[in-house]
Amino acid sequence: MSNYQPLSVEFESGSGAWLIDSKQQRYLDALSGIAVCGLGHAHPQVQSAISDQAANLIHTSNLYRIPLQEQLAEKLVKHSGMDKVFFGNSGAEANEAAIKLARLYANNNKISNPVIVVMEKSFHGRTMATLSATGSERVHKGFDPLVQGFKHIPYNDIDALRSLANQDLNIVAVMVEPILGEGGVVVPDEGYLSAIRLFCDENNCLMIVDEIQTGMCRTGKWFAFQHENIQPDIITLAKALANGVPIGACLARGQAAELFQPGSHGSTFGGNPLASRAALAVIDVLEKEKLDKHAGEMGQHLINGFKQALDGQAGIRNIRGKGLMLGIELEQDCTDLVAKALNEKLLINVTSGNVIRLLPPLILTKDEADQIIFKLSILIKNYLD
Ligand SMILES: *Cc1c(COP(=O)(O)O)cnc(C)c1O
Repeated sequence: MSNYQPLSVEFESGSGAWLIDSKQQRYLDALSGIAVCGLGHAHPQVQSAISDQAANLIHTSNLYRIPLQEQLAEKLVKHSGMDKVFFGNSGAEANEAAIKLARLYANNNKISNPVIVVMEKSFHGRTMATLSATGSERVHKGFDPLVQGFKHIPYNDIDALRSLANQDLNIVAVMVEPILGEGGVVVPDEGYLSAIRLFCDENNCLMIVDEIQTGMCRTGKWFAFQHENIQPDIITLAKALANGVPIGACLARGQAAELFQPGSHGSTFGGNPLASRAALAVIDVLEKEKLDKHAGEMGQHLINGFKQALDGQAGIRNIRGKGLMLGIELEQDCTDLVAKALNEKLLINVTSGNVIRLLPPLILTKDEADQIIFKLSILIKNYLD
């Protein structure tokens, strides 16, 4: 079906931050398959974990205990401070589970017409419930009737949230990305997540943090909410969790962790031995190589480098980000910059029309970071001049 518009390049293999196409040309990957291949391509430890597991056991069923899934849940709980985990196969499924938890929370507390507060410009997925939660008309268009029960407010606007408390709404959850990903790499003000936490405490509702793009060390911490001294009730993960093997996870704490009971939710593939084993290998590498810290340092190096290289350049609105989630916002639309970068053997993305988004692998070396700065700043200058 024609829902994608792929660029005309075919990658055949990869290694670390590099991809090789069918003509044996090398590309520097500053996107990681949209924040998926955090450990880069063909990581030896992930590769051997997957092939070893495939030779042993790929799938059983959640009808039986899956020790690898249990080990993975324990690891995730340890790093996140949450209590329990549900596994699915994608980000949308992780958010779908979070939304279902919020609905069950309403039901158990006899709250009718429950409302989940979500943000304008947010992105939460493409299933009916998650696209309804998403704050983008482009994503909604053509899919009416949407799932009911979502109230959109502006991102990074705590007054807009507080003003909802005085309205006659049965708010059961606030769902938020710690940094808007698809919405243009928007980093909210410091204290934004803490203020949402306070609102949720005061109004007895669940704080759901969508860490699908920001999680797994991407922003310089294991999870982006950890930049503030708070603990959400629910977080969702996917993208980088197994470096490209499909998996999603919904983690919950306290009351929210007890809502699913036998029969209330499920997934055939979710948390199967293969995906769990791959994710365990990913976590092992993230821990051993302290890639949270490395992502923070490389991110700062990139931001400093771009600020220096593009100093005084007209047409640049802002250079921002956290860890290895970076945005360079131009004053004009620049979607065609992606193809120009591809010609220069550099993989980037443009989101929200005018924000160049960089999500390089967490294993990026300083030399590779310098190559990204060098190539991209020339491209931007040529584009704007
Ligand atoms: C990618 C993404 C999703 C959706 O994940 P899929 O695996 O494509 O379903 C949801 N939320 C955020 C923040 C994302 O970046």
